[in-house]
Amino acid sequence: MEPIVTIDKTGKVYMPTSLRDYFSIHEGDKFKIVEQKGNIVFIRHAPTCQACNDDTDVKKVNKTFLCGECRDSVIKTLVEEHEQKSGETRTKK
Ligand SMILES: [Zn+2]
Repeated sequence: MEPIVTIDKTGKVYMPTSLRDYFSIHEGDKFKIVEQKGNIVFIRHAPTCQACNDDTDVKKVNKTFLCGECRDSVIKTLVEEHEQKSGETRTKK
């Protein structure tokens, strides 16, 4: 038998635990809803990089989603800043 989901009066979709476990769906997961041949289809919405909008290798850093390239760019900038500051400290002495 096909699993059944229920919509409550506020529009929330109730999906049974067995179904969420089967599809590895967790609280807060986001889905795009599309129509395909008259059917409603939930498509898992992958997070995109908040800096460049790319969707490859996106990870959450604090509260921001960043792709690998942008994470590398942030690290490079921080290292350069750190090296600049430690260079300034050395010249002050
Ligand atoms: Zn990015």
